[in-house]
Amino acid sequence: MRAFTLPTSFRLSALTTRGLSLLGLLVLGLCLAAPAAAASAAQKRPASMQPGHVETFTVGSIKVYGIVDAATTFETTLLNPEFRLNLPQASFAGVVKTYLLQWNGKNVLVDTGWGSNGPKGVTLQVLKQLGIAPEAVTDILMTHLDADHACGLAIEGRATYPNATLHIARPEYEAWMAGTVKRPADKVALVKEKLSHYTPVLFNWGDIVLPGCTAVDAHGHTPGHTVFDLLSAGKQFSILGDIMHIQAVQLRFPRACTAYDMDQEAAIASRLATFRRLANTKVLVAGMHFPETGSLRLHAKGTYTLDRP
Ligand SMILES: [Zn+2]
Repeated sequence: MRAFTLPTSFRLSALTTRGLSLLGLLVLGLCLAAPAAAASAAQKRPASMQPGHVETFTVGSIKVYGIVDAATTFETTLLNPEFRLNLPQASFAGVVKTYLLQWNGKNVLVDTGWGSNGPKGVTLQVLKQLGIAPEAVTDILMTHLDADHACGLAIEGRATYPNATLHIARPEYEAWMAGTVKRPADKVALVKEKLSHYTPVLFNWGDIVLPGCTAVDAHGHTPGHTVFDLLSAGKQFSILGDIMHIQAVQLRFPRACTAYDMDQEAAIASRLATFRRLANTKVLVAGMHFPETGSLRLHAKGTYTLDRP
C-alpha cells in the first residue's frame, strides 16, 4: 500500500505557484489511487518549458530574460530512494535555462546552456532574435561548470561570446581544471575545452562580482556552485543555479538530493540555507532547471512552495 499518492489533478504545468500549494494540501490530506495516465501526463510539456521560450520581467532597473535553452527529463531514479517511493511517475519534464540580464549598460549572460553539445541549446539563437549579438554580451556569470551550463561558451572551437568577461567561482574553476570533480572524464575534458577559449576572472564567495551582484556560497551540487544575489533600486532577484533539479519534489522535501549533487551533505545544507534565507521575503528567485520564477514560501513542517509574482 502507498502511504500517499499524488492526486489525479497533478500535472507538471501546475508545479509552480498555486498548483504546488494545492498539491501540498492534497498530499497531506488525501490518499488517492495513482492514475494510470499519470506517467504520460508528467511528460506533457507546457509552452513555458519549450526550448526557445522566453520569460521577461524587470527587477528594479534590471531587465531579465529567462531563456529555455533546452528541454530535459529528470528520471525519479536520480533521487535518493527514500524520496521516490510514492511518486506516481518515473520522470519529470525539466528545462535547462539561461538568463540574460540588461542593466548598467551591460548584457550579462548567466550560464550558457548546451551550445552545440547535448540536446543542442538555443540560447544563442534566442539572443539574436532579441537583437543581442554575441559580440554585445559583456559578461558571463557561471553558477557552476556542468556541461549543460558551460558548453554554450564555445561552439565548434570558437568562443561564442568573444568580448565577454567570464566570471567563475575560484573553487569551481580549480576543481574542474584539476579534474577532481565527480564527473566522467569525457565531460571534464569537454568543459575544459570550452573554458580554454576564455581568460576567466575568478571570484570568491562574498565578492561583488559586478555592481549590484554578489556571489553567495551554495556549494555541494559542485565544489564552487554559486548563487547570485542581484540588487537594483531596493529590489532583489536571486539566481539559484542548480539548487534544485526536480522542483516538485525538492520544494516539498528540501533534503532530497539527486545523483547530480556531488557532495550531498553540503548540497542539503546549501539548499536549506538558501531556502531559509530567501523564503517569505518576496525576493524573486530563479534557477537553471526551474520552469518559472517566483518567490519562496515556507510552510509548517518545513515544506516550500513557489509563489508567482
Ligand atoms: Zn544543471
